[in-house]
Amino acid sequence: MAMPKDYLHKYLAFNKQMRIITLFSTHCVNEYCKNILTTPVSMAAMGRLISATVMLGSMLKGNESVMVSIDGGGPIGIIRAEANSKGDVRAFASNPNVSVPLNERNILNVGGIVGNNGYLQVRKQLNMKEPFIGTCELVSGEIAEDLSYYFATSEQTPTIVALGVLANENGTCKQSGGFIIQLLPNASKEAYDFLDDLLKNLKSVSNLISNAQSSDKLIDMLNVDYELLFEYPICYKCNCSLEKTKILLTQLTNEELLEDINKNQGLDVTCNFCQHTYHLNNDDLREVLEIKKQNKYQVK
Ligand SMILES: [Zn+2]
Repeated sequence: MAMPKDYLHKYLAFNKQMRIITLFSTHCVNEYCKNILTTPVSMAAMGRLISATVMLGSMLKGNESVMVSIDGGGPIGIIRAEANSKGDVRAFASNPNVSVPLNERNILNVGGIVGNNGYLQVRKQLNMKEPFIGTCELVSGEIAEDLSYYFATSEQTPTIVALGVLANENGTCKQSGGFIIQLLPNASKEAYDFLDDLLKNLKSVSNLISNAQSSDKLIDMLNVDYELLFEYPICYKCNCSLEKTKILLTQLTNEELLEDINKNQGLDVTCNFCQHTYHLNNDDLREVLEIKKQNKYQVK
């Protein structure tokens, strides 16, 4: 049986004065949960981050990619997701197996595990040599608010980011999704007002996502004229490989590599994102030395 798919939709709306991206990501988030020991609240945090990063990816083209990292000083540690323009996404958290009580409104306290004492960083690998890096301080650690703040400060684009995740009791994902509304440079005062009003009336994104169930319904609920630009399926997918692991290991010193070769036991390296373990034998480790010698890759 084919895996059920999640979709991203992109629209031009409000008389071509805004761009709207809608996303449902439930299957993707459950794919993330498969290999990782999560809790309902850490799944919610990672679900929001996954949704946000896939939507940022849809603003790219070709082989470009984007990575969103959040380090808020909370118990989950650093959280990070990467996506490309084709809808592939992967994510990881330093400590996914953490929990805190529900917040005062009786909902999963994402800000409580992410923390709000730190920064959010967006790193875009565009079709240029140097990546674009934008950073802002965290507002709440609730992720959607932080990303809206990032767009306002780092990219000077008025933006609403709305992210919602509902958890099952066993920590898997019941429903996940979100939307991004961004004003285009030609936006009128009416478009700004529309955005303000929407923000005021946006009570529970999780309930909105849950009630909508589909992109058509979600965009209808926003009550705005629109035309569809494109849609594509999204997929939780790790792009790690033995070759890429070798390149990562060029960060070790020659002495460290030679020591491992002398031990003759090989080296096990586990991917942070998908938990796959690569075993590198002595031939592989010698190849790492060779790559270093040729200085083919500058790992930053
Ligand atoms: Zn991997």
